[in-house]
Amino acid sequence: MGNNLQRPKGTQDILPDVAQQWQQVENTANSLFNQWGYGEIRTPNLEYTELFLRGVGETTDVVNKEMYRFEKSKRDYSLRPEGTAGVVRAFIENGLHRTPKPVRLWYTGPMFRYERPQAGRQRQFHQLGIEQFGIAGPSADTEVIALAWALLTTLGLPDLALEINDIGSAADREAFRNQLRNALTDHKTALCDTCQHRYTENPFRMLDCKNPSCQTIYSGQPIQALLAKPWTNADSQAHFATVTKALTELGIPWQRNHTLVRGLDYYNGPVFEITTTKLGAQNTVCGGGRYDSLVETLGGPETPGVGWALGLERLISLLPASAPVPPDVWVAIANTSLLTQGMQAATQLRNKGYTVDTDLSHKKIGKQIDAAAKRGIKHVVLVEPEREITVKTLTTSQQTPLTDFLNQPIAGR
Ligand code: ATP
Ligand code: MG
Repeated sequence: MGNNLQRPKGTQDILPDVAQQWQQVENTANSLFNQWGYGEIRTPNLEYTELFLRGVGETTDVVNKEMYRFEKSKRDYSLRPEGTAGVVRAFIENGLHRTPKPVRLWYTGPMFRYERPQAGRQRQFHQLGIEQFGIAGPSADTEVIALAWALLTTLGLPDLALEINDIGSAADREAFRNQLRNALTDHKTALCDTCQHRYTENPFRMLDCKNPSCQTIYSGQPIQALLAKPWTNADSQAHFATVTKALTELGIPWQRNHTLVRGLDYYNGPVFEITTTKLGAQNTVCGGGRYDSLVETLGGPETPGVGWALGLERLISLLPASAPVPPDVWVAIANTSLLTQGMQAATQLRNKGYTVDTDLSHKKIGKQIDAAAKRGIKHVVLVEPEREITVKTLTTSQQTPLTDFLNQPIAGR
């Protein structure tokens, strides 16, 4: 062997046992989305960079520092760092704004961010998300949050908490910006370099900082007191109050978090995150909010929108590992000249609904039966020279001709 080849830092191989958990989550999500009237949309992993510059915002970390960006034949491309911008582009490009409202969409797939890899943080990770377009009122936010809650509780995720905040309009934030700066003037030198930069560029982004010493300052009294005073417009406050009242009535517990601002620029009104105490530092599973100007920003007609995305790696790490399920039937084939007969038997059994593994070792039949027994398999098909093909049930040692076995109702697993 030469030099060992390795996967890029911050990426993962998902092997069959864990892939089984992914499939289970994907299947649950798929059928729940279907029940709630959300249709799947698949957009490219690759987009022109301009989409993210305009959509996600040039002052965000995601666009500024974290994008995998490259040029090819003088075009500027980026691997998508998140899903919403691409879905909105596709929504406009395919004329979905001309279809009945609300338009309800979901997506899943890999996202790429050049971040420092650590537990719960990778450079290629996967999101599952929904977007709902066309409804400006609080019903849309309520439905979208209720669907996130339904999914996470259906999957049995432990210790969930929903945090929600009202970040008002861009004008509200503009007007509030200086108050936030003023309240932080005395603390400025204690902030991390990034926050000092954000202080000038985009002070709201400071609140999203992961640095514990910055967080201590933001969660301290003067800042919390300032943020707790209503600073968003009256419509936004009323909208927020209606959403949270509905959540309470639906039995979904929530907490106001005045420091919650989200890392992307396109949000307005209610924003939210669902966290779990079981994840350590990277404890946010799902995040989202309302983005009423994004469709217009990306060249479409004025269309309100609201959605969320959840991190599948973080979610799956919270689920109990599932034991591999052995196949129902094992086909033992005495020698190569009987291979096609063995494969035909396997096909008949699969058509009936059984899961079937074929032993290709052509060892002595007894050895093949031992191998099946070791793996906890119930039925072994014996394909031997000059013998009718029979099925041996290992638990009872009973032998049944294959034709009879196929006529029996499928045995319980
Ligand atoms: P964080 O604050 O943890 O960096 P974020 O605000 O950047 O998250 P979003 O852009 O809102 O994340 O993405 C939604 C979800 O995607 C997150 O809540 C998280 O579960 C997941 N996620 C985001 N970045 C990563 C990453 N680098 N690796 C794994 N999962 C991620
Ligand atoms: Mg992030």
